Amino acid sequence: MDTLDPMVAETEAAVAAPPDTRVNLVGLTREELVAELAKIGAEKFRAQQLWQWMYNRGATDFEAMTSLSKKFRAQLAETHVVARPAITRAYESVDGTRKWLLKFPDGQEVESVHIPEDDRGTLCVSSQVGCTLTCKFCHTGTQKLVRNLTPAEIVGQVMNARDKLGEWPTPAEDRQLTNIVMMGMGEPLYNYENVSKALKIVMDNEGLSLSKRKITLSTAGVVPMIERCGAELGVNLAVSLHAVTDELRDVIVPINKKYPIAELLQACRTYPGSSNARRITFEYVMLKDVNDSPAEARELVRLLDGIPAKVNLIPFNPWPDAPFERSTSAAIKIFADIVNDAGYSSPVRTPRGQDIMAACGQLKSESIKLRKSELLRREAEAAAASA
Ligand code: SAH
Repeated sequence: MDTLDPMVAETEAAVAAPPDTRVNLVGLTREELVAELAKIGAEKFRAQQLWQWMYNRGATDFEAMTSLSKKFRAQLAETHVVARPAITRAYESVDGTRKWLLKFPDGQEVESVHIPEDDRGTLCVSSQVGCTLTCKFCHTGTQKLVRNLTPAEIVGQVMNARDKLGEWPTPAEDRQLTNIVMMGMGEPLYNYENVSKALKIVMDNEGLSLSKRKITLSTAGVVPMIERCGAELGVNLAVSLHAVTDELRDVIVPINKKYPIAELLQACRTYPGSSNARRITFEYVMLKDVNDSPAEARELVRLLDGIPAKVNLIPFNPWPDAPFERSTSAAIKIFADIVNDAGYSSPVRTPRGQDIMAACGQLKSESIKLRKSELLRREAEAAAASA
């Protein structure tokens, strides 16, 4: 056995530890919470009380939930937990951006980022460990191991931020966490069920209480899920476009081979709830000499015709050995002016938290190294499950 590798040693230690079999109450929908508590004989109104303790007050210790009877609290502590993900690293940028590395019981890790601005504070939330999309300019896409996050792990990122920002109970105003963007690691529409459950919990106004207008989900273009996302969640949509021809987009955003530009834009045209007041954001990473010419800006304007759209230009954020460079400021300005003159707002996204690798596309956690036998076991399990 190779005990020199600390990650392997850690995995084995984790396997040896007796598992905590208590059920986590975080991440259950209201209905699931009622059903879960019914198993230990609790009535429906108990679920309502617990919901408020967990999501409005931020309580994690049943003992602190003083509106519950002593007996019920003791019973809960034996069978259930209100768990938070473990924080293994915390970083703070010179510009105030904060990044947390969260670790889950199976050893997998993701990052979330809080970006404070004058008039708002945005939390960038991850939906998967790693990502299957392999967009060529994105660091997360180089990460090998991928799994979906559970609703608890997604909501847990928001609760962790609220812990760290000291924002319990949920403040009615003057919040430091005002907005959520599903723009961290992963493709949220490839983990729709869990993201949807999590966002419904986040939007519940007796809990974390973030309105759908303050939540933006970003997708690289999983076309069949876009309509459902709009109809069921009603959150703002952002689309990672990044190229104006299928020829280029096939290469830099490979999901384009499955869902080409015309189909993607058609889904945007009919996105439920979009209007001139609620525009779809088109993200466009500025890659030097790749997609940043004035001709491409004009083609972008042509493509967006008829869609209530705004364009968010993202200067490429570098990462080690990335095969691209950031466009020059002059090229970005010319591009932005063309889009802007055509009537689309086209702000350039200021890179935030670059010194802590927290800017767009820089997130990547070290996948835990699994022993070969464990990898093979998991593959066999996945194959059996999909058979
Ligand atoms: N998978 C989703 C969610 C990720 S959002 C999606 O693709 O939309 C992260 C945003 O940052 C996306 O628009 C992504 O294309 C962009 N991005 C990725 N790598 C980047 C980089 N190195 N520099 C700037 N933006 C990047």
